[in-house]
Amino acid sequence: MSTFTGRLFGPGLAGTGEPVTAHWLHDTLVCQTSTRSISATAPLRLREGGFNATQLNLTWSDADGDFVFGVDDGAARATFLAGLPAALQAELAQAQRGQSRVQRRFRWALVVVALVLAVPLVALTALVVRSDAVIAWLVDWVPPAQEAKLGDLVLAQTRAEMKVIETGPAVDAIRSLGEKLTPNTAYTYRWLVVDRPDTNALAAPGGVVLVFSGLLLAADTPEELAGVLAHEVAHAELRHGLQGVVKSAGVQAGAWLLGDVGGAVMSGVLADLLDMKFSRSAEEQADQEGLRRLAAARINPAGMVTFMDKLAKKDGGAKLPAWLSTHPASAERAAQLRLAAADLKGPWQAIGLDWAAVRQSVLRR
Ligand SMILES: [Zn+2]
Repeated sequence: MSTFTGRLFGPGLAGTGEPVTAHWLHDTLVCQTSTRSISATAPLRLREGGFNATQLNLTWSDADGDFVFGVDDGAARATFLAGLPAALQAELAQAQRGQSRVQRRFRWALVVVALVLAVPLVALTALVVRSDAVIAWLVDWVPPAQEAKLGDLVLAQTRAEMKVIETGPAVDAIRSLGEKLTPNTAYTYRWLVVDRPDTNALAAPGGVVLVFSGLLLAADTPEELAGVLAHEVAHAELRHGLQGVVKSAGVQAGAWLLGDVGGAVMSGVLADLLDMKFSRSAEEQADQEGLRRLAAARINPAGMVTFMDKLAKKDGGAKLPAWLSTHPASAERAAQLRLAAADLKGPWQAIGLDWAAVRQSVLRR
């Protein structure tokens, strides 16, 4: 008679189970505790159990209640399996499939833990891969404060190369609208006007929003300016600019953003940033998120639609305004925007701005 050891749980036994010596008697499992003998009555069920499902448990019920016998690992398990009744062989195969499934899952969990521990290395590897999904994932690790340093660099470069208007009615107007569109933001926004005739605006990483004076003059109402700002802050909040930097600069940008390698390595990146083109899906995302922010601020989204219409009409012409090149407008995008805006219901709040005075202030210069 080949015996094997295990632990038996059931009525009248210690809650933590009792060590037993057991043997097969034909199709019956006979367990011997220190005080008594307990026989397993059919039907017996075989299940994987324990942490990581590496154990085999035999369960059965009789008049006293439910019993579970967990066979010990090693030689005991081999002896247990050697005597296993034919009726339980199919269940054994199923249990083992379950075990390998759980073990596979456990191995994956280990891989995930390893990945998390190895983030800096993985991040650099990911930068080599440069897929959009990987970049979006990586960008999630960049703290807003580090992103803001990138905004500082953009700002410094813009001030060096262009005439920046930092105070006055136009800056005040942009700030008051912009702040309504960015409640609870993680960024400290900076709102600036660039004195240039282009119909352009951009949101650099870290919440640096630049509106060209040409765009202020092209906007017939403050709602149209609000529409542009909503689109821009959506790019900032969705970190599209940061993703673009990482995509174009790769490993250097990743190292700079995750640690602090110093601004010098970023100088090449900045030139790209000012005329970075977002993907079509990023533009559509910024439109939708912009609309949502306008509605939340109770600003009539019709302004965003009419301004997009203007840009879309120019889209057919030979000479495109710059805003078209960095945020490609199209009749299709305008139509999508019109549809989405129609779903938003007012009432909207009037924007208390002297729009004529705002435009005059940038014209005079
Ligand atoms: Zn855009």
